[in-house]
This record gives sequence, C-alpha cells and structure tokens, in this order.
Amino acid sequence: MDIKSNSVIFWFRNDLRISDNQALTQAKEYADKHQLPLHAIYLATPAQWQQHDQAPIQLDFIERQLNQLSQSLAQLGIPLSMFNVNDFQAQMDWLITQQQDGHIKQVFAGLEPEWNERQRDQTLLDSGFPITFTDEHCLLPPMSVKNQHGMMYKVFTPFKNRWREIMQSVPVEPLGKLTAFAAPTQAQPITLNCDKTSSQQWPTGEKAAHQLLRQFCKQNLADYGEQRDYPALHVTSQLSPYLAIGILSPRQCLAALLAEFPNAIVEKTPAEMWLNELIWREFYRHLLVAFPKLSRNQNFNALANNIQWQNNPTDFQKWCDGRTGYPIVDAAMRQLNTTGWMHNRLRMIVASFLTKHLLIDWRWGEQYFRQKLIDGDLAANNGGWQWSAGTGCDAQPYFRIFNPIEQSKKFDPDGKFIKDFVPELADVNAKQLHQANTFTEKGYLISEQYPLSIIEHKAARERAMATLSVMKKQN
Ligand code: FAD
Repeated sequence: MDIKSNSVIFWFRNDLRISDNQALTQAKEYADKHQLPLHAIYLATPAQWQQHDQAPIQLDFIERQLNQLSQSLAQLGIPLSMFNVNDFQAQMDWLITQQQDGHIKQVFAGLEPEWNERQRDQTLLDSGFPITFTDEHCLLPPMSVKNQHGMMYKVFTPFKNRWREIMQSVPVEPLGKLTAFAAPTQAQPITLNCDKTSSQQWPTGEKAAHQLLRQFCKQNLADYGEQRDYPALHVTSQLSPYLAIGILSPRQCLAALLAEFPNAIVEKTPAEMWLNELIWREFYRHLLVAFPKLSRNQNFNALANNIQWQNNPTDFQKWCDGRTGYPIVDAAMRQLNTTGWMHNRLRMIVASFLTKHLLIDWRWGEQYFRQKLIDGDLAANNGGWQWSAGTGCDAQPYFRIFNPIEQSKKFDPDGKFIKDFVPELADVNAKQLHQANTFTEKGYLISEQYPLSIIEHKAARERAMATLSVMKKQN
C-alpha cells in the first residue's frame, strides 16, 4: 500500500502493541491535530537478522503479531505496511527517500537500548530528519537511575533500591485505549522475508498476552518467590516472549502486579521477587546504554580477556544437542531446542556448565541462545551469560561453580522435568536420575540409552578454578 503524501508515520520496532504505546499515541494526536493521514510501518531487516542470528521462531512470532496488529489497526482506520529494507542503513535511506518524495511529514518511534539502534536513531536526529522518539522500553529510561556520583550503578541491589525510590513518584497507570482514527480499512497481510520456524505454541495478540499476565498475577504471583526455581512447576510467567518484542509493556506488567499488591514498590510483599525480575530487566537495559561495549559482546570485566577458553567444537555440539550426559543440562537444552524457551534456573545451569565445566567462551552460548530463543533479547541474554560466566557486571564470581548434580537434586527432585524432555530416562528412578551418566563395573550408571557424560564434575571444577582465576581481583 502506498503512503499518502504528507503522512504522519508511526514506526513499529520492538513495541508491537497498540495499548500503552506512547509513541503511537503521540503520532495519532499529531495526525488528529494537524489533520494529516496516519500510517504505521514496520521496516524489516532480513540481512541484519541473518547477520545477528535472530531466531527463526522469534521471527515467526513477530510476523504473527504484525498480522494481528494489522487487523486491529485496520479497525481503527490506521493502515500498517511492512517494507523489506535489509539493514539499518537501508531503513534510513528508505525514510529519507519517502520524505524527499513528500510522503512523510513527521515520524514517531520508541527508542531501543542496543548500540547500533541508538547510532541509527542519533544519525537520523543529527541529519534533521523529522522524527520524535519516546523512551519507554523500560519503566525508567536508561541513564535516569544514577548513583550519588551521577554514574550508572554497577551492582544490582543499590540500583534496585534507587529504582524503587524513584518509582514511588512515577505514575504506573498504562495509557488509555487508543480511539479510532478513521473509518476501518482493509488489513494488509504481512509476510517477513526470512527463515521462520513455527511459534504456534505461543499465542499472539495483546488480548492473549493480557490474559496470560492476569492469570499469572492471580494464580502464581503470590507464591512466585518460593516456587520460581522449580522448572517442573511451570509457575513463572512465561511472558518474556511478549516483553521482548513489546506485545506487553513493562508498565502493564507492573500495573498488573500492583493491582494484586498495591504497596509492592514501597514495602516488601509476596510480589517482591517478581518485581525484582522486572528490575533485573531494567538493570541490563540500562547497562547496555551506559556501556556500549556490551552491545559488541565484549567482556564487561577486562580481566576476562585473559581467559584461555578451551572452545572444543565437539563438546559444544553435544551441549547444543542436549547430549552431555548430565540429565538436567540435557533436559534444559532440549527444552530450548523444542520450545524456543528455557526456564531461568536452567539457563543459569546450562550457561555455567558451558562456560565453567566445558570452558567454552560465553559468546558461543549467547549466540546459540540467540539462534533459538523466542524471547531473545540482547540486554538480558548478554547480561545472563556474562553473569553466569563471571565476566559481567555484578556477576556470579568465577569460583562459584554450579554442581549440575546438586542443582538437579534440589530443583527437580522427582526428575519430572528431566523425564519430560529426556524420554530415554523415563524408567530411571529419581535417585539415580540426577547423576552424570558414567560407565561402572556394573554397566551404565543411569542408562545405556543415554549418552555417557562428557566430563567428570570434580575434574572440570578444578580445571575451571585454575583457568578462570585470571579474573581474581588484584589487591
Ligand atoms: P519471570 O520469572 O516471570 O520474570 C518476568 C519477566 O522479567 C521476564 O519475562 C523477563 O522479561 C524479566 N526477567 C526475569 N528474569 C530476568 C533476568 N535474569 N534478566 C533480565 N530480565 C529478566 N531473558 C530474556 O527475556 N531474553 C533472553 O534472551 C534471556 N537470556 C538469558 C540468558 C541467560 C544465560 C540467563 C541466565 C538468563 C536469560 N534471560 C533472558 C533471563 C531469564 O532467564 C528470562 O527472562 C526468564 O527465564 C523468562 O521467563 P519468564 O517470562 O517466565 O520470567
């Protein structure tokens, strides 16, 4: 569909929603006020997606959500068009050409925290292009939560305390419903030109996302603190795919939390731990903006540049495939490979196993996650990997090495989660199930059908301690 001359453009990025979308609301108000046509666009960047290994399941999820948006916006009289432009430079060229051809009066868009995205937006602003940004991928924008020296915090707890202090005077009410702009139009079907794998398991649409959010807050929020570490219970919100591409806003999540526990920001309530997770999300996004090297996947801790990673490709492949011989690690990797999602406790276990037991550079794992995750998000993924490897900001120290057997016993005591994803262990009793599969005089420790473990825990631990001690702080 052609864009009418002198249009007001709303540019969708990772904010694929209509409700509580400040930039979209501003675009509509501007178009209303100046009596100009309003057009929503999505500028797809297949070359960039390929270069950055964006997961085919996430791209499918985006495509499905764009089609939902196209229909809902059509009802409001706002057309949505998708244009394939390959990469960021091409996005800018496309916008400038459209403006020169008289199609664009003013563009509205939401800022993103990643370095390349910020560079692109700054270039547009510096060139005098008519674009207005809002900054609302977080509840509090990056660089607004600072320590007493005016700097970004490098430790989570003081960041969280300051964040909560500031939030006490910030309204949390999401924006009201967007009213119709014009008579309904015909929705345009949208097809992204890239590799996709089915994300059907995850419903799209804001209605579905809000239902999940409400259901979580009613059923699981109060017990989240006690239950969140047990993957077989399925009690975490599983809203990360929705937050990652902006079907839900963080404000909507916090508002839903406060509807159950109105004092959660000022005092400790049963919602404390879930609130913390939302703040971790903000912390990593703020770090990404404050330290651009994180967007380039550099170690936060420069001492980590001296680590001699083993980077054994065979070990890496076994880890990817869920064939390490450690049931909890393998079940987790198979969950990722089959569903595009992994429970947080398991992300920590497999990341620790890869970087510490196998001494494989965290960037290999981070990339594999990016290729597979439906909730792939640079800030959280980089943050989670560097935390686990001990190379990050406020990270797990290098000498804290998860014992996958103990983690398994503690967080999947009956082996229910393991059995769901490793069917060859279905008949193994819960006592044996957590072990690494080795060969003993009596035969295979766990099962003949299941791979032998690729490394022995104690030896791996000692090797990791010696290798990673290059990160030891010098006094
Ligand atoms: P809930 O427990 O219900 O938490 C609510 C929301 O808070 C999540 O949806 C998410 O948006 C946010 N959140 C929770 N924990 C974290 C955290 N530690 N860091 C940042 N945000 C958090 N999360 C992603 O969204 N995308 C990623 O690519 C990603 N990669 C990770 C890689 C590793 C190695 C690790 C250890 C963690 C990673 N996380 C990532 C964080 C976390 O594992 C997921 O956000 C969480 O498992 C999603 O499940 P949920 O929606 O049920 O979370």
